[in-house]
Amino acid sequence: MKKQQIAIVGAGPAGLAAALYLHRAGHDVKLLERFAAPSPLGSGLILQPTGLTVLDDLGLFDRIASLGNRIDRLYGADALSGRAVLDVRYAALKSGRYGIAVHRAALFDVLYQAVLQERIDITTNVDVITMHTGNGRAWLMTNTGRSIGTFDLVIDASGSRSRLKQFAIHPCEPEPLTYGAFWTSLKWCGEGFDTRSLLQRYRRAGVMIGVLPIGRTDAAGDPMAAFFWSTKPDEAEALRAAGIESWKDRVLSLWPECSAYTGQINGFDDMTLARYGHHTLAMPAGRHLAVIGDAAHSTSPQLGQGANMALLDARALAHALATSTEIDAALSAYAASRRAHVRGFQALSRAFTPFYQSDSTLLPFARDWVVPTVARIPPAPQLLASMVSGTLIDPFRPIGLREKAWI
Ligand SMILES: Cc1cc2nc3c(=O)[nH]c(=O)nc-3n(C[C@H](O)[C@H](O)[C@H](O)COP(=O)(O)OP(=O)(O)OC[C@H]3O[C@@H](n4cnc5c(N)ncnc54)[C@H](O)[C@@H]3O)c2cc1C
Repeated sequence: MKKQQIAIVGAGPAGLAAALYLHRAGHDVKLLERFAAPSPLGSGLILQPTGLTVLDDLGLFDRIASLGNRIDRLYGADALSGRAVLDVRYAALKSGRYGIAVHRAALFDVLYQAVLQERIDITTNVDVITMHTGNGRAWLMTNTGRSIGTFDLVIDASGSRSRLKQFAIHPCEPEPLTYGAFWTSLKWCGEGFDTRSLLQRYRRAGVMIGVLPIGRTDAAGDPMAAFFWSTKPDEAEALRAAGIESWKDRVLSLWPECSAYTGQINGFDDMTLARYGHHTLAMPAGRHLAVIGDAAHSTSPQLGQGANMALLDARALAHALATSTEIDAALSAYAASRRAHVRGFQALSRAFTPFYQSDSTLLPFARDWVVPTVARIPPAPQLLASMVSGTLIDPFRPIGLREKAWI
């Protein structure tokens, strides 16, 4: 495809990766970000073999690996009985795969520095609220009434609360999920915690506590952990009103080893309350519009695929543009190449979330008493490992990508 003028709205993982791919493909890219200084929100996340393959394809694997922390196992136990209810090991796949847990700031910084190094045009402090099309072009409008453009293509990478996704064919909005979580990043304390595992404790599906070692935000920084406590956003006020010490007592009654982490939290303001929603655009595209990342599909982070899917989307769109001769054909190719993977994982996430975050008593009962037994019988360990890896449905071949060699 000849050189196109492309606007990318949002400098999260999806927007930054898309900017790198499309700039390298020779397109004229303009990246627009709402924040005055681009910065990542939230705590940590696991980059799965899918997202790591995209970062490798972008030439950024070594940088992210040097900051992040290798994860080999996801382990969860009932807080009272200590009985293991989740034990997924990447090694079950015999492919050498693993995850890398990172602080969001580290992922952001690796992508953002590459964008700056390649002198990609980035404008901050721009809140894009709508778009218009006409005469074969598209232009954007900001909240101050400024018009930006014109462009051949607009890429909406502005996250789950995107306002541009309303211009997709069959638009939809995220449906709020009952449970969210308090998240924070703390100094890593190794005692009682495994450096290579995401560890979780549950009490039915109403309580979930997690500790994830996420490495460093920069080369000189100390190793950190992401700490989270699942809660209903509706009940957060009551938690706050009861006071931080009452919450800490509750955490420690369920997982005493966490005192090294709760001791670092002085108040609820030290944590971020994350609200989750779920939506999947039937067609992540519209007229002169491609929708990628959380703007196209959001969900709870239970399966930990969101940032990885955002990176895959960016690669898929770049591949579709590189292998099509005009924009409309590229948009159809992009949507088709991601359809099975996105729909499959969105459905899995919707199905699995209530086992871990809901008011149900039946689902956690099944999780605690049936799943652990079934999960040990082959091919269940392999299936669980490829679900966590994001590869249960092949995401690579449709987007022209070969999986990274792990060994
Ligand atoms: C608590 C939590 C834990 C998670 N854990 C994991 C995990 O373990 N693994 C995983 O893969 N994923 C995880 N996720 C999901 C992951 O964070 C998202 O899927 C990922 O960040 C999506 O990337 P994105 O670039 O599409 O959107 P975002 O990261 O939301 O980036 C969107 C960008 O667009 C900008 N923007 C928004 N509106 C506008 C506007 N109007 N104009 C201009 N710019 C705008 C924003 O400022 C932001 O920079 C988690 C999410 C949460 C909340």
